[in-house]
Amino acid sequence: MKSQKEKKSYIKFSGLFIFLFLITIFFSSVTIADEGMYPLSEIKKLDLKSKGLKVTAEDIYNPDGVSLVDAIVNIGGCTGSFVSPNGLIITNHHCAFGAVQAASTPEKDLVTNGFLAESLTEEIPAKGFTVRIVDSYRDVSESVLAVLNDTMDFATRSKAIDRRIKEIITETENKNPGKRAEISEMFIGKSYVLFIYTYLRDVRLVYVPPRSIGEFGGENDNWIWPRHTGDFSFIRAYVAPDGSPADYSQDNVPYHPKKYLKIGLEGVDENEPVFILGYPGRTYRHRTASYLAFEEEIRMPYIADLYEWQISVMEELGKKDRAISLKLDGRIKGLANTMKNYRGKLQGLKRLQLVSKKREEEQLLQSFIDSDPNRKKWYGSVLSDINSIYEEIRSRTQYEFTLDYLLQSSNLISLAKAVIDASREREKPDIERASAYMDRNFTRTKESLLMSLSNFYEPVDKIFLKRILTDAVKLPENQRISPIDKIISGDNPETAINTFIDKLYSSSKLMDKTYLEEALAKSYNELTNLNDPCLEFVQSLMPLYDELRTVRQRRDGALSKLYALLVDVKKLYLKKDFIPDANSTLRLTFGKIKGYSPADALYSAPITTVKGIIEKTTGTDPYATPKKLIELHKEKNFGRWKHKKLNDVPVALLYNLDTTGGNSGSPLLNAKGEIVGVNFDRCYEATINDYMWSEEYSRSIAVDIRYVLWVAEKFSNATNLLKELGIK
Ligand code: ASP
Repeated sequence: MKSQKEKKSYIKFSGLFIFLFLITIFFSSVTIADEGMYPLSEIKKLDLKSKGLKVTAEDIYNPDGVSLVDAIVNIGGCTGSFVSPNGLIITNHHCAFGAVQAASTPEKDLVTNGFLAESLTEEIPAKGFTVRIVDSYRDVSESVLAVLNDTMDFATRSKAIDRRIKEIITETENKNPGKRAEISEMFIGKSYVLFIYTYLRDVRLVYVPPRSIGEFGGENDNWIWPRHTGDFSFIRAYVAPDGSPADYSQDNVPYHPKKYLKIGLEGVDENEPVFILGYPGRTYRHRTASYLAFEEEIRMPYIADLYEWQISVMEELGKKDRAISLKLDGRIKGLANTMKNYRGKLQGLKRLQLVSKKREEEQLLQSFIDSDPNRKKWYGSVLSDINSIYEEIRSRTQYEFTLDYLLQSSNLISLAKAVIDASREREKPDIERASAYMDRNFTRTKESLLMSLSNFYEPVDKIFLKRILTDAVKLPENQRISPIDKIISGDNPETAINTFIDKLYSSSKLMDKTYLEEALAKSYNELTNLNDPCLEFVQSLMPLYDELRTVRQRRDGALSKLYALLVDVKKLYLKKDFIPDANSTLRLTFGKIKGYSPADALYSAPITTVKGIIEKTTGTDPYATPKKLIELHKEKNFGRWKHKKLNDVPVALLYNLDTTGGNSGSPLLNAKGEIVGVNFDRCYEATINDYMWSEEYSRSIAVDIRYVLWVAEKFSNATNLLKELGIK
């Protein structure tokens, strides 16, 4: 028998062994999860040469001179890049889709037929579009966090950060007239960066291929490799004759960017190094297992199911009439994109058992924290405190989702809410208002509300609203919504809901442009006097929305403090720094053109060709290739755009770069920094990127510039465009 002492040291030893063993596993899984979306501040620290890049860090980002970053723009939620000295921008077809849709009528259907402006005067305004260019950035974490103190409760904390951010933004904009300032939170509750941007407000459509090319494969192929979609379009940014940003005017002139990208006429091949500069939207790699579990078990399945149903309703109604489908197409596309992305993520979470992996990692982290009294004092309850916030969210999910998706589902209800919010927020001092209603943003908020009317289609709105109200009948006792209960009281909730909806839509005038515009200028009391049933319904819900806002402020305040502590202790534990999660700020990612294995015994090569388009073509949507394109391929009329080894025009490229939504439209650059493709998607397995990146399955997709130029030259005869791109 072992002595007590021996036993103790054995336990200690085996404990240490297990600990080290687990740490090794943790480290290996962390290696898989390595992030690669580098913010501007990190670029100079990177060894680009060893990755095969010929450009230097300074060529990419040089705050004191001109660099590639100056050619990169943000367009709505997407990225684009200047490709000529006259403000010509290349981005994705799906990024410009809203503008093409808005400019289309059943008689002049630009979505279906595509569009090419032969001269500047033929270019069409892309209403509501802006182009954003980075001027400069600086870390303002200290100044933001200086307003916090230990006595603040969580809601106060969150409000204080919000207010401080608005103060800095206002001060900065006052000092830099004509510019826009924005502060991005890099690490939650820890670091904040102030960006100064130029916004160009006159944007016009230049060249968009027909949908059968720009969206070839449609939703079937979305998030899928191998891919054959010509997801590109060209737009142009304009400014006033004096060079300043201006709203649309015939007198405006093309913008001259500091930098524009050269076209990499040779293209790229398998294994060659490439990089991307762009605006990735959001990743959640630093969140906890409890967050991921909520996403996996509750939020994503709810949304994917709801959107799937909404899409089927809209598709059915759109079938009858092109004028109706033109109103609904953009929304269908957006919902379908999210729905399939979530389905991909759900599959990935399950396949990788990510939640339990994260839980194991967190147990190890907890052991590390507990093994030192001082650490335990500071960080001991961080994980459990975060977990209890997600528990709280779970306990009210149905209630909160009903309030949220009432607005998402019914445009009429969300217009009413915006009108009421405007009346209440505009009475407050500017700095205390919700951001959309501050003076600096209100004009744009109004414009986008008024523009939303052009896609308003009452039958869809009514059906969607009915679904949310019908679901609310089944809410559990402790999550009931009393203003809705009042509507559905009585023996027959369905009849009551129908009567309510009919009254709402027949008496509310909010869908009328002039009425809406006037309502947006009214005080709360004036709105009450309008006796608009929709405004009255939303007014009855306002105490609930107010409560929800306060609850969320408290949660955000708490999470902001807790996630900041979590990152601190993870750094201590892993003895390394992290890259902040994507947050719509400019990032660099690099790697190479590379295939992958999506499943056991399958290998996918990284370059597709026009041959694949022909193979997929069935003649019906979404595989209805234009005859001319088929002919060009038959004649092997490839011009200079042929890939020599593949003996065909390359269509799409696959590579192991770290991207997410928002990287749509980002230029794919070769080692010399020339554009060789336009990023537009990821493979299905890589939808999980947002939670965890992996060399194995994280692959992104671009349309090859050779395909873009082949289509432009041979299919569309876009001579002027090619000339402008410097192609002789
Ligand atoms: N297709 C994507 C998007 O909609 C791009 C991506 O998420 O990779 O933004």
